[in-house]
Amino acid sequence: MPNAPVSSGIPTVKVSPRGAERLKSGHVWVYRSDIISADSVLPGSLVYVTDHRGKPLGTALYSSSSQIAIRMISSDRVEDFLPLLRQHIADAIAYRKPLVRDSEAYRVIFSEGDFLPGLIVDRYGDILSLQILTQAMNADPVRQAILAELTERFHPASIVERVDPRVRELESLAPRASGLLQGEKSSTIFSMNSIRFHYDAIEGQKTGAFLDQRENYVAAAQYARGEALDIFCYQGGFALHLAPHCSGVTGVDSSRAALEVAEQNAALNRRDVNQPEIEWIEGNAFDLLKDYSSSDRHYDTIVLDPPAFAKSKRDLDAALRGYKELNLRALKMLRPGGILVTCSCSYHVSQSNFLEMLADAALDAHRTLRLIEVRGQAKDHPVLLNIRETAYLKCVIAMVS
Ligand code: SAH
Repeated sequence: MPNAPVSSGIPTVKVSPRGAERLKSGHVWVYRSDIISADSVLPGSLVYVTDHRGKPLGTALYSSSSQIAIRMISSDRVEDFLPLLRQHIADAIAYRKPLVRDSEAYRVIFSEGDFLPGLIVDRYGDILSLQILTQAMNADPVRQAILAELTERFHPASIVERVDPRVRELESLAPRASGLLQGEKSSTIFSMNSIRFHYDAIEGQKTGAFLDQRENYVAAAQYARGEALDIFCYQGGFALHLAPHCSGVTGVDSSRAALEVAEQNAALNRRDVNQPEIEWIEGNAFDLLKDYSSSDRHYDTIVLDPPAFAKSKRDLDAALRGYKELNLRALKMLRPGGILVTCSCSYHVSQSNFLEMLADAALDAHRTLRLIEVRGQAKDHPVLLNIRETAYLKCVIAMVS
């Protein structure tokens, strides 16, 4: 499907009173059901948005296919998207300068959170990884401008694109393979909080590492001690941060590929002979926790960082049951004074849903929980207060008695 030219003959899209209200409340999305007219607007166009009476509401990027038809980029009239795009990239970089410390890996651009809806860019040392999530960001001139700006700002060895086939399908974009867009380098070793990790742009899961947990690793390590269990450990993010503070660490994940990288990561960091060897176990977390808790195994620190259980609102109850089962078993296995680090990355599970679930689990486990920290995603994944969807990660650190 052809993409529209981004800067000429800008069409107008009229939205319903409900759509206009949503924008006035500070959100940037208008759903397709709130579009009154978008006649012959081409996929991915820059559009002017008005209310049903024709009053201007600003400028947006249009998708002809997604349920989210409009993503606002300005409350003014913007005639050319590209200068604004460059400015927002520069702003995103400047925003992070004082906020990201002791890490060669971080999120450079977080879509709506950086006023660049549909664009995610992560940095792993001298490799940049980008994800294009909308028709507008996929337009050739936009892609070229993104690459040019990132190249000028970072001089990366390479830029890779990570493609989510499901997103391209939802946006009616032609299938495309993940791969290098620029340069040859596709793997590296990066340091985060003084711990080293392998990164492989082509092989990894998601965008390589779970950068949103970067600050939570440090927080968890502050309280971790004794024997630690890192459930859903992936490539060892928490386990490697806990190891210097613990007498033993076990990481559990169902993905053998992830554990192989975890083991290589552990080898990269094994400079201190006093640091315990980390044991990696391939298995289903639910089965393992059931086994361990019924065979009276005990730990001093347990991390739970499962994948998103609620992919949509409809899954909320089932997701909360899943979280509760995991947390209940972990609580039973913690020694008095033990530390629970428990996370949820489901946007549909709110912080209060999550805390309520945890309170229930504590009651059922006959344990008392004292909250030490209630945390969210790292600051390079900015949360816009008026766009609730930008806040998705919960990380609660609590002491069990
Ligand atoms: N804590 C990790 C990120 C975890 S992502 C970090 O900080 O890097 C979720 C992980 O859960 C993935 O690695 C996935 O392989 C694993 N997983 C998903 N379902 C699982 C299951 N039923 N049992 C064990 N691991 C599972």
